[in-house]
Amino acid sequence: MKYRFKYAALMMALVMLLPLLAGCGQNQPQPQPTATAQTINAEKTSQVGFFFDTVVTLTLYGAPEGLMQELMDACSRYERLLSKTVEDSDVYRINHAGGEPVQVDPETWQIISRAKNISAETEGAFSITIAPLTEQWHFTTGEAIVPPDEVLQPLLPLVDDSAIELGENNTVRLPKGMQIDLGGIAKGYIADSIAALCRGRIVGGTLNFGGNIYAVGEKPDGSPFRIGVTDPQDKSGSPIAIIEMKDKTTVTSGTYERFFLLNGVTYHHILNPKTGSSAVTDLTSCTIVGDSSMDADAYATACIVFGREKAMAFLEQHHLDGLLIDGDNKIYPTPGFADKYPLTILK
Ligand code: ADP
Ligand code: MG
Repeated sequence: MKYRFKYAALMMALVMLLPLLAGCGQNQPQPQPTATAQTINAEKTSQVGFFFDTVVTLTLYGAPEGLMQELMDACSRYERLLSKTVEDSDVYRINHAGGEPVQVDPETWQIISRAKNISAETEGAFSITIAPLTEQWHFTTGEAIVPPDEVLQPLLPLVDDSAIELGENNTVRLPKGMQIDLGGIAKGYIADSIAALCRGRIVGGTLNFGGNIYAVGEKPDGSPFRIGVTDPQDKSGSPIAIIEMKDKTTVTSGTYERFFLLNGVTYHHILNPKTGSSAVTDLTSCTIVGDSSMDADAYATACIVFGREKAMAFLEQHHLDGLLIDGDNKIYPTPGFADKYPLTILK
């Protein structure tokens, strides 16, 4: 079996090394961008953290003292609230309540409420109640296996977001046996929330949560941020395209991020809730650009499950802007995409 996982230890080493390598530790003075008539004198600060099994890189221009720490603290808080594995997190308590209602933080309630709606919109292709299935695959532990059909089949009826009960006073109740996994939507919510903390307090910045990137504001010289879309076929993670944007989020879900090969079959971490197995799809990547990183996160995951034709129809119908990439590395932008977001295809 061949693995290609982001091991926690490796990531931690990267977290510690990156600021040194990039020479951009927090509060270190950076060379100013080339002066133009409109250039604002905004110092660049950058910090790397490791949350939600992901390397998080925040780069801010013109941040006030203390903001970076505030953002990192917020990430920490979200991890404690939304992680499936941190005992006494909201998600942990919901999953272990044995059918009883649980009172949660209003933000947790909001995320679950939105997830339920998106699950309905996507006819269940996106389902946070996927947890009993993801648990069988062990994708995040680095010891992924292919669970036998006899194990997966009995779990399928437990996957049904419409059965999540959202009550008053921020209560959530799951029928006994059901569990939730916010892995397909939480980073999006967090990106939105961290972006909101930045607005009006910085000139601009990029908030990178792995597949979710929020480009807040604009660069100090007034130009848009240039966000790379990873080449699904390049193991080094080089970009296949660059999208220019101001104050927008770019979210990519891909089958190339966490996967393993067994007997010539590729298994990846986006599951089809109807089968319990890795989604069989002609897409390797789906990128969505918009205002809500939470919505884009969930929709991008659903689009991988849909496959190219259905994903394109869905994006158009919901007036979403995005790029789909198939197994031949062919890029399919939604109609009018490049008119809204200048797009450079590199390969
Ligand atoms: P990543 O978080 O790796 O950037 P995604 O946003 O596509 O990627 O989310 C994948 C994660 O979401 C999986 O690791 C799993 O926790 C969960 N997941 C997998 N399949 C689904 C699905 N069909 N619907 C909702 N969540 C899913
Ligand atoms: Mg997602």
